[in-house]
Amino acid sequence: MPQASFLVVDNIEAVYSDVILALRGVSLRVEEGQIVALLGANGAGKSTTLKAISNLIRTERGRVSKGSILWRDSSILGRDPAGLAADGLVQVLEGRHVFPQLTVEQNLITGGYVRGLSRTEIAAELEKIYSWFPRLKVRRSSRAGLTSGGEQQMVAIGRALMTRPTLVLLDEPSMGLAPILVEEIFDIIRKLNKETGVSFLLAEQNANLALQCADDAYVLENGRVVASGPAAVLAERDEIKDIYLGSSAGAEGIVTH
Ligand code: ATP
Repeated sequence: MPQASFLVVDNIEAVYSDVILALRGVSLRVEEGQIVALLGANGAGKSTTLKAISNLIRTERGRVSKGSILWRDSSILGRDPAGLAADGLVQVLEGRHVFPQLTVEQNLITGGYVRGLSRTEIAAELEKIYSWFPRLKVRRSSRAGLTSGGEQQMVAIGRALMTRPTLVLLDEPSMGLAPILVEEIFDIIRKLNKETGVSFLLAEQNANLALQCADDAYVLENGRVVASGPAAVLAERDEIKDIYLGSSAGAEGIVTH
């Protein structure tokens, strides 16, 4: 019996307000247990790709207008994002979305509700999250809105983990954070992946860091995949480095898979 594919995005187009074409035929795959990086400059289409998969795109008057998205061999196009989260596919939005008035711990607990966990299960999940993010244990009673940017990013990731996901769509975890905190968050992502097997599709502008952490990577430009392959191979390519210096010449059509 062939193993079911994990996530397969095939040739999708995505539009906002029926007029703005943000993705123009994006294809990518995530295998179970992988970290896959989605790289590209501002406006390349990274967030839109994640939102197309989670269907959060619909909250911004967007939709997938062409192509298919299969998760474990079933189409998830148009699925309710909450239902997807309950099935193990969850997105962490860009920008550290937390409930500012709730404490760190209350924020985390909201993630547990998605799965309908009992109080005992929630307590056990919380302990797991605190073992991954010891900083959050220290700050558990603080209002989330008063914690640092790095702590808020950890809360956002921790809340997603409370849904017991198998695939996390993680949008720009490094955004606006000091380098040391970014390192800390990427270390935790790597550890989580290794020790729990949770997969990540990771949108990042910080290509260097993402390529160090990922198995495979895709580079987006103007809503198209312009390069893809094993992260270690892409990390060695000058053309990829060029993209992040603002010149994409030569990147077109590099596929190293
Ligand atoms: P960033 O890091 O800046 O978020 P990105 O690679 O994630 O960049 P997207 O946010 O996916 O890029 O944007 C892709 C394109 O879609 C851009 O041209 C952007 O202006 C457009 N876009 C994104 N969100 C919306 C929206 N809600 N309504 C209309 N257009 C949008």
